[in-house]
Amino acid sequence: TLTAGVVAVQGDVSEHAAAIERAADAVGEDVAIREVREAGLVPDCDVLALPGGESTTISRLLAQSGIDEEIREHVAAGKPVLATCAGLIVASTDARDDRVDTLDVLDVSVERNAFGRQKDSFEASLSVDGLDEPYPAVFIRAPAIDEVDDGVEVLATVEGRPVAVREGPVVGLSFHPELTNDDRLHRLALFDALAAAT
Ligand code: GLN
Repeated sequence: TLTAGVVAVQGDVSEHAAAIERAADAVGEDVAIREVREAGLVPDCDVLALPGGESTTISRLLAQSGIDEEIREHVAAGKPVLATCAGLIVASTDARDDRVDTLDVLDVSVERNAFGRQKDSFEASLSVDGLDEPYPAVFIRAPAIDEVDDGVEVLATVEGRPVAVREGPVVGLSFHPELTNDDRLHRLALFDALAAAT
């Protein structure tokens, strides 16, 4: 049995929890899901989802609750994190915005709301490293990743800009894999968790 934590201080928490459940069914693994609203739960989690929402709010609540430090320890222990949209912004080392206190667990800088007004939200069929078929990616006021440290692998791009990256156990996505029925990226996070747990 794996324990999956969905960081639940703000954002699209229930959608991530549902996606993890579908992914668990698909891989035939027992997964207990915990919504993380306070410190003390992350140490029991094998894998974390850091949802989209509002990055300024999420980062403030993580710092106030002390969950921020627990996420850093989780990553330092090599356990996987799936950080999506605002979650990616929060996980990064630089959001170019003083109101976002980044976790510094993913060595990229991001530009918030990077895809222009007429493209506030859009869907793209993305080829993602590690997936056989294109992934239907939903972008909503999405960040772009503009600087990527040496240890960071770019998994997908839109208009030449990285939108999916991996550094060790942390996968960061500009888009929302929890908003489609395609749970392949959540499955990858569970496989990472199984590998890390052995
Ligand atoms: N624009 C939001 C932010 O900067 C992120 C958007 C999202 O998570 N859908 O926090």
